[in-house]
Amino acid sequence: MAEKHTKHQVVIVGGGITGLTLALCLQHLKVDYVLLEAYGSIAPDVGASILLFPHGQRILDQLGILDKLQSAGLPQGILDYRDGVTGQSLRRSNFGDIFRRRHGYSLLWSSRHRILRALHEAVAEPQQRLLVNKRVTRIDSLPEGVLVHTDDGSAYEAQIVVGCDGVHSTVRKEMWRHADLTDPQCVPEADRGDVGCEYGCFFAASKCTPVVTETVEPGAGALISLQDGQVVLGRGLDDEIRNAPSTTSPRFTKEDKERVLDRFRDVVFGDNGVRMQELFDNLIRSGVTALPHYTLRKWSSGRIIAIGDAVHKFNPVAGQGGNSCIDSCALLVNALQEHLGTDLANMPSWPLPSLSQAFEDVENASVGKVTTLVEESQNMIRLLSWRRWYDKIMYRYIVPYLPAYFLLQPHSAAIVTGVRLRGPSSSPRPSTIGYMTRKESLGNQ
Ligand SMILES: Cc1cc2nc3c(=O)[nH]c(=O)nc-3n(C[C@H](O)[C@H](O)[C@H](O)COP(=O)(O)OP(=O)(O)OC[C@H]3O[C@@H](n4cnc5c(N)ncnc54)[C@H](O)[C@@H]3O)c2cc1C
Repeated sequence: MAEKHTKHQVVIVGGGITGLTLALCLQHLKVDYVLLEAYGSIAPDVGASILLFPHGQRILDQLGILDKLQSAGLPQGILDYRDGVTGQSLRRSNFGDIFRRRHGYSLLWSSRHRILRALHEAVAEPQQRLLVNKRVTRIDSLPEGVLVHTDDGSAYEAQIVVGCDGVHSTVRKEMWRHADLTDPQCVPEADRGDVGCEYGCFFAASKCTPVVTETVEPGAGALISLQDGQVVLGRGLDDEIRNAPSTTSPRFTKEDKERVLDRFRDVVFGDNGVRMQELFDNLIRSGVTALPHYTLRKWSSGRIIAIGDAVHKFNPVAGQGGNSCIDSCALLVNALQEHLGTDLANMPSWPLPSLSQAFEDVENASVGKVTTLVEESQNMIRLLSWRRWYDKIMYRYIVPYLPAYFLLQPHSAAIVTGVRLRGPSSSPRPSTIGYMTRKESLGNQ
């Protein structure tokens, strides 16, 4: 088959939250980009819910899609802490109001699908920009660019390629291959080694009463959000997959899923003794997935950079993964403007030294911050699943009585370092704490 060869300024690989957010950031700058997605559709109705924190919302606000999400998402930030064995509600707090006062935005729960759809609908010229059934297989270096090959025999030339292709990233592998050819020392060995995988999760959509709750049952934490008659549940799994370090995450069978359902059907997760069984009886779809956790130290080489889940993976219980993906998109386009100039769209050639500086900025601003957040998310699921001897005491007898500002401090610490896109404005939002300037947040690394 003859190769189709087109030329753009940026090739984005992957049409998840990271890829589509980056597409909108580039669209705002009028940069010529194309997004290549391996599967046959953008925004498929699969996956779990996403909790958007104020820093993620602020960027989506700047990109003009927050109103749409707010009108469709779960409008409240009320969270229940509950003992899943006795059904006792340990604490019910309106954290959303606190976040709004502190950082200008409340908490926003939305299905991943709805976020993808909102991002997708905001893309101009989607037919030309978002190409499906394009699995990237290889990236070649050119004297002044990259050539990205897909499995249908097409090739896309660009100044840079950005891997937003998730946990099993091909771009990441290609980035390592190129690094080995040019600077073998630049990728730390640890980046290519085994990754930790202490937990797995069961996620589902179900027709149930809306509530947002954290329910604990010994040996397995749960984070549940229900909206518009749908439920999404993330749950820590059992010992058999704990500490299964591997570059290939463990896979689960239908029987594994049945065992999870069996084990947890009596757990109480709602008022009036509502049990998991009710949720399981009303399933629309469900899945079980491993939850590896990692932060890579090196995200780029030459004209190739990877962001999003391709370079960091959180336990979803803390709700920071997707927010960090959105944050990295803003960091990247800001850094490109800083080192190449604000008129990116009209620069025919993007010099490699400036790109290297921009990519280094992204790594410097992100790696330390994300490493801390990933570790905090692991600690949170350990607490919720009562893994360690003191977790039950903490969760049942201490956490319910801690002041809200203390409980939310780790989240606020992440939020204040959130990036604001250069350029687009957002609606004015009074806040008591606000956000750090870029200089302040770099000084904090
Ligand atoms: C159960 C669960 C609950 C979660 N809850 C939250 C939450 O509350 N808050 C939060 O912030 N985060 C949450 N997360 C994390 C969040 O969903 C992810 O961090 C985020 O969706 C990752 O987006 P991504 O675009 O980087 O990767 P992905 O969503 O994995 O997208 C990657 C895309 O790349 C495509 N692709 C892969 N390989 C290729 C290739 N070779 N060529 C072309 N395309 C390719 C894939 O098809 C896919 O579309 C949760 C995760 C899970 C599992």
